[in-house]
Amino acid sequence: MSPSGVTFLVRRLLREGRVVEVDPLAKGKGSGSGRPALRLLPTPLSGWVAGIDFGHKHISVALADGSGAEIGSAMTLLNVDINAQEAMNAACELLDRLCKKYEVGDLVTIVAGIPGPVDAQRGVVRSPTVLSGWVGLDPAAELQRRLGHSVRVENDAVLGAIGEHRRGVASGHDDVLYVKISDGIGAALILGGRIYKGSAGLAGEIGHNRLENNAELCRCGSRGCLEAVVSVDSVVAQLAHSHEGVTIDRIDSLPFADEITDRIFSDAGRTVGQALSSLCNLLNPSLLVVGGTLGTANPALLTGIRLGIDQYAQPATAQGMTVAAAEHGSRAELVGALYLAARATF
Ligand SMILES: [Zn+2]
Repeated sequence: MSPSGVTFLVRRLLREGRVVEVDPLAKGKGSGSGRPALRLLPTPLSGWVAGIDFGHKHISVALADGSGAEIGSAMTLLNVDINAQEAMNAACELLDRLCKKYEVGDLVTIVAGIPGPVDAQRGVVRSPTVLSGWVGLDPAAELQRRLGHSVRVENDAVLGAIGEHRRGVASGHDDVLYVKISDGIGAALILGGRIYKGSAGLAGEIGHNRLENNAELCRCGSRGCLEAVVSVDSVVAQLAHSHEGVTIDRIDSLPFADEITDRIFSDAGRTVGQALSSLCNLLNPSLLVVGGTLGTANPALLTGIRLGIDQYAQPATAQGMTVAAAEHGSRAELVGALYLAARATF
């Protein structure tokens, strides 16, 4: 940049309070005889922020400082889909306990993610088929009433995509497809470097795309939906035939390394890859990030997704796209929530 361009920008940053001038360093070797140099440092951010991640069957909360660096988190298991009020009470209690543990007083910003479509204009949950107990609710208003603080609510996959784009494996990519595979399957799109949410904020609900030749009953009342065929439940049911004691809450901590497990995950991956191939043809992303509990439970899932895409997407599209596991795994949504919350304080 030209010296005048740098001067202009530094003046602006100083005016906006984003940087401060601090003591000049001692003149170094080769310094001229002019005005002593000043050091510029980013303005220290004050206050604490929080993120809440509602899954279909769990709630996680985390606290971070003003830069978004996490200081602690907590998690509880609960059927979130059906018990909306109970889930929001539990999230607020969990957050309250975490604040007490870390002696955090007032929170500056709170961002929450929910596993379903949120109407961008009205802020209410729109889908009776995905989050049956939440329809018509305004989660931001409900959480605000309980916490006494304004809360921003986003779709969870959107937060996961932001977490991976700003702080993870998708950094530097402008066109990214993020897919969260857990108890349900949701996606978020980053196109041209920006999150794309669609006309009403409902883009990315790929879990209920129909798969041909499948008749599994889905929670939405339809049959053969992608997330009815591939989910934590379905994989656990398959694993249970050969692995005693496999449970949903332990699926990402069991040291699976056998042929049957790899086949089950690889087969699930191929199904997802086939379903995503048309999206890849349509959008031509440079990176597909796979997150969620199941998405990062076994590398064979990723191998299967790669195979499915290579087989069904256009060759040039498939070859130009990397498939990668979410760097933050099933915590990507929390990372994204904390990033957004910290950015809002700044
Ligand atoms: Zn469905």
